[in-house]
Amino acid sequence: MYGMLRSEGEMMKIYISDLTKVNGIQREINLQEKLEEINFNGDNIRFIEPIKLTGIIRDESGIIKLKGELNLVVELNCHRCSKNLEQVINICIDESYTNTEKAPDDFYKFSGNEIDFSPMIFDNILTNIPMKILCSEDCKGLCEVCGCNRNLKDCNCKIQQYDPRFEALLKLRDKEFR
Ligand SMILES: [Zn+2]
Ligand SMILES: [Zn+2]
Repeated sequence: MYGMLRSEGEMMKIYISDLTKVNGIQREINLQEKLEEINFNGDNIRFIEPIKLTGIIRDESGIIKLKGELNLVVELNCHRCSKNLEQVINICIDESYTNTEKAPDDFYKFSGNEIDFSPMIFDNILTNIPMKILCSEDCKGLCEVCGCNRNLKDCNCKIQQYDPRFEALLKLRDKEFR
């Protein structure tokens, strides 16, 4: 998962040497990064604008706490008609970082004097992308027969229902005529 978040630089890293020296010290962060398109569960997620991470980072007895917000502007496709949809997604961030091995499962790890926020950002993006992406609740989708967008055109195609009894009849008929 980690490696899937590709960005153009290393902007999502911060140096924390000043934080870990003094307990309780805090710092504002304001990071921006342009991300490449990612594919998740068959959805292509395109980042129209650089993602933004803003907030406060502070040292609480060796645990680095980050509280802030992640702002995304993404383009997704409707699951039914594949129309492009632009969405603004604002995510509340409340995470903890530790450099010790014994830590709760939901803590992120860091080593040395820098923290790379990329894995945390990636997890937050994936958990906040809507499961159901629709241009509207009553999107009619694409016609299974002719492929036209049924929101724009009424093609009157008949969608054939598969009926096993009909299939059996056809087989019988084929035999009789052989
Ligand atoms: Zn749609
Ligand atoms: Zn059709």
